[in-house]
Amino acid sequence: MNDLSHTPQEGRPHAIVIGAGFGGLAAAIRLGARGYRVTVLDKLDQPGGRARIFRQDGFTFDAGPTIVTAPFLFEELFDLCGERMADHVTLQPLTPFYTVRFHDGTELRYSADPEFMRAEIARFNPDDVAGYERLLEESRRCYEIGFVKMVDRSFHSIGRMAGAVPDLLRTRAYRSIYSMVSGYLKDERLRQAFSFHPLFIGGNPMRASSMFGLILHLEKEAGVHYAMGGTNTLALALASLAEGQGGTMRYGAEVAEILTAGGAARGVKLVDGETLFADVVVSNADAAWTHSKLLPPGRRWSEAKLRRAAYSMGLFVWYFGTDRQYEAVPHHTIMMGPRYGPLLKDIFDRRVLAEDFSLYLHRPTATDPSMAPAGHDAFYVLSPVPNLSGNIDWETEAEPYRRKIEAHLEATVLPGLRDRVVTSRLLTPPDFERDYLSYNGAGFSFEPQLTQIAWFRPHNVSEEVANLYLVGAGTHPGAGVPGVIASAKILDELVPDPAAFTGA
Ligand SMILES: Cc1cc2nc3c(=O)[nH]c(=O)nc-3n(C[C@H](O)[C@H](O)[C@H](O)COP(=O)(O)OP(=O)(O)OC[C@H]3O[C@@H](n4cnc5c(N)ncnc54)[C@H](O)[C@@H]3O)c2cc1C
Repeated sequence: MNDLSHTPQEGRPHAIVIGAGFGGLAAAIRLGARGYRVTVLDKLDQPGGRARIFRQDGFTFDAGPTIVTAPFLFEELFDLCGERMADHVTLQPLTPFYTVRFHDGTELRYSADPEFMRAEIARFNPDDVAGYERLLEESRRCYEIGFVKMVDRSFHSIGRMAGAVPDLLRTRAYRSIYSMVSGYLKDERLRQAFSFHPLFIGGNPMRASSMFGLILHLEKEAGVHYAMGGTNTLALALASLAEGQGGTMRYGAEVAEILTAGGAARGVKLVDGETLFADVVVSNADAAWTHSKLLPPGRRWSEAKLRRAAYSMGLFVWYFGTDRQYEAVPHHTIMMGPRYGPLLKDIFDRRVLAEDFSLYLHRPTATDPSMAPAGHDAFYVLSPVPNLSGNIDWETEAEPYRRKIEAHLEATVLPGLRDRVVTSRLLTPPDFERDYLSYNGAGFSFEPQLTQIAWFRPHNVSEEVANLYLVGAGTHPGAGVPGVIASAKILDELVPDPAAFTGA
């Protein structure tokens, strides 16, 4: 039996971080900078979590995030280590940010250039130009509250939540983003183009708070970037920053249990039985999984409550390489399907696999030829689908669904695709559950709806166990790379100074 009441003090207090997603990596760096000895444990064989990389047949595929916004959040982490981000990673600003292709074949290119955007909007509906400008102004107000005031502050106290309510009421954050955008724009295609952003973080635009309208302002001010070599290069750079601080990265290390004694976290037990002691434990594992599987049954996050909670949609991702290049296809294309609201209902509420789909098509070789052999293109196409609380048998559905998407791409933007695919790989909701230990196989953990944000989300400091902290998509402020990096910044407010453990 291990005596968990006594942590061996090997010099500096020890912090264990479970998970090397962006949230875990940022937490490791922040704790390292504070003076903790840090060990990061991840069940995968590389850092990045959802931002891992697949290499296959000479192609390199970013598995997850491709759109890098708010680069200043990364820069802070390099600054903490006395390094310059530019010496480690090349961030390439993209313009336009992305192209939205509607079912009728029209395309809207979206960028930060006001003149260009006025002309783009006018092509769809000249009457919407003034509304678009007012929408941007509203987006700025959302940013001032939702980002500046809320994103990197802990919402573990009901008092702080109550303090935010007047701002939330003033900005009518109880409206959905679709409803807010519809108040400014008449053209249905433009309404879709400026309301889909919550899907990037697992939210349904028909009920995600209008506060997520802040993303428009964030993109406009800080740009949309691509990390040369893939987003995973950012994860690799953060892992080496953590190691440079004296931290340890351990891959292939799955945590089975967070060990507690006297109501406080004292370490972790790995699936192979190894026990590691710690003064502080930070879980970057899926927040619902942490409460359901890694901790004893809790009071606030009981299994019953976790089952009742709403989870983000699942993701179907097809990574493929072609033996030709499709020069006309830009780096990021959002391909809207024939239905918007009803499709979202099928995905989030009815949880059935619809006949139609909306897609995001990633072509990194538009910016970075190193992602594919010469003369070839690397792609991934992503379709939001129901998470595992639906009743879809992915064993049988995945390949027909992939073929349907392939046929659609062939008929629209990638002519002759079927005969040009030379490498292929799928990621479906069961893979999210198996690979990332994601509750319900959700792409982005808890769905960000008004009753599941800020105080209503699992707090960044555990409500169940002392010395346990949570970062990542399932915690405040939520999913998306900027969100999870901000969740780690909140630890500076919550985790005591290492001296608290050494008595120094
Ligand atoms: C396909 C896709 C595209 C996306 N596109 C974008 C985008 O363009 N821009 C953007 O900002 N965001 C995007 N996102 C969202 C973004 O990637 C995520 O919200 C974010 O990366 C999640 O980070 P995280 O810190 O929560 O951890 P995760 O990336 O979820 O990593 C958690 C890690 O913990 C490990 N782990 C879990 N349990 C255990 C355990 N018990 N023991 C050990 N290890 C464990 C997991 O294996 C994983 O490696 C995308 C996501 C996906 C899936």
